[in-house]
Amino acid sequence: MSLDINKILSANGIAAVIRQDGPLKVFTPVSGEQIASLNVASAAEVEQAVITSQAAFAAWRKVPAPRRGELVRLLGEELRAGKDALGQLVSLESGKILQEGLGEVQEMIDICDFAVGLSRQLYGLNIASERPHHRMMESWHPMGPCLVVTAFNFPVAVWAWNAALALVCGDSVIWKPSEKTPLTALAVQAIFERVCTRFGAAPAGLNQVLIGGRECGEQLVADARIPLISATGSTRMGRAIAGVAAQRFARTILELGGNNAGIVCPSADLDLVVRAVAFAAMGTAGQRCTTLRRLIVHASVYDQVIAALKNVYQQVRIGSPLSKDSMIGPLIDKAAFDAMHSALEAAVKDGGKVSGGERVTDAGAHAYYVRPALVEMPAQTDIVRHETFAPILYLLKYETLEQAIALNNGVPQGLSSSIFTGNMREAELFVSALGSDCGIANVNIGPSGAEIGGAFGGEKETGGGRESGSDAWKGYMRRATNTINYGSDLPLAQGIEFSV
Ligand code: NAD
Repeated sequence: MSLDINKILSANGIAAVIRQDGPLKVFTPVSGEQIASLNVASAAEVEQAVITSQAAFAAWRKVPAPRRGELVRLLGEELRAGKDALGQLVSLESGKILQEGLGEVQEMIDICDFAVGLSRQLYGLNIASERPHHRMMESWHPMGPCLVVTAFNFPVAVWAWNAALALVCGDSVIWKPSEKTPLTALAVQAIFERVCTRFGAAPAGLNQVLIGGRECGEQLVADARIPLISATGSTRMGRAIAGVAAQRFARTILELGGNNAGIVCPSADLDLVVRAVAFAAMGTAGQRCTTLRRLIVHASVYDQVIAALKNVYQQVRIGSPLSKDSMIGPLIDKAAFDAMHSALEAAVKDGGKVSGGERVTDAGAHAYYVRPALVEMPAQTDIVRHETFAPILYLLKYETLEQAIALNNGVPQGLSSSIFTGNMREAELFVSALGSDCGIANVNIGPSGAEIGGAFGGEKETGGGRESGSDAWKGYMRRATNTINYGSDLPLAQGIEFSV
């Protein structure tokens, strides 16, 4: 392989880790070859990390929020300086094209900027009291150690969405990255440690990374000293975590699978549709939680849309994500390829007509590059209702907008959705209470990707969590309602008399 892996690891300050000889084998999907074998956190190390995180929290919550914001400002500064190196590592380890690797680091920078401003805006409320000489207020306090569990496909941005907010909110952080992308986590931790040195007064262990698989995550999720769990990954993982967390009444922010649709109306700008669909359905090789997986097209423009898409799908450049020419990189591993192929087989059994989906093999036996697939379906069958984490776009036909909205909403997941239309009534209906039931509903842009200013997350099996912008910060703090009596009488609420 022409890649200089050592150079990328050195540029990220983690060249030393590849000298480890631990049980966790790390592969690059670019060529399928092994690039590191890491040690994993033992149960005793996980226990120690929780103790350290509690101590870090006890100290960090005393630091005024705008000072905490200064640490996050420095994090943004270091990320700007390290953007190219980290972007390359993201690309190498997750397989997304370099432009998207860099975009992911930019997202980290953006959330840092957002969180710095937020550090002076963690507003509470003053509330009118029904009692004379009383004032009520609502205040927000740091919550405690926050566990952040992340998936392979956004190996660093999801940590940043959570950590930047958690840190300004006064929480300490324990990060359990995906076992498929631990190197990027170690690189970010190296950056974070530089930030702490520059900041000067950060408590030890304010952000800790624990390398390991599901067991490591399970031990942390079960630990009653961690009041807040933010977990991103499959619905299967979310279901397991939610059950354990509910038993101990931990708070969860769950960001799980999506099965995102786009509706193409007769008045849509079809040229724009094709460009939007190309990125939303094929970008990141279909491995985004917000990837467009279902396109619901009005019968009057169906043939035209399919013909244009088939053309684009045939031409899209597939190849090494580190090459400037590539638009589509590899799938993460063989399991992802096998899942894609079983889904295509199931779709054919259900009457689907597949084009694309074949493996592009010249990158080596263990690298899984595929041509994205278009599948014309006679109906929204079980396989269409299931999230397959690969570039498969199911095409469905509709006659009335009510049918299209019913199809959009007729899946267990509720993350993202779009409508393409020039008709204001259709657009407004789609974003109204009678329209899309997803956490994200867009007009004339694809469902994939998001800006950090809005709250990110979805309903139903997507888990209900919200991260990133808007008031998502409230998820990282505890709310206290305070009633203050500045008089000498003691009136009770609701006029209750109780004199002794
Ligand atoms: P995954 O569920 O296999 O793993 C995600 C993380 O959860 C990993 O760190 C894993 O070690 C950990 N984990 C798994 N089981 C656990 C358990 N029982 N307890 C604690 N931790 C556990 O997901 P993946 O294959 O890495 O990522 C792909 C999935 O993530 C897709 O379904 C995608 O839609 C979803 N995703 C969702 C969002 C979102 O914001 N909604 C964002 C990115 C990815």
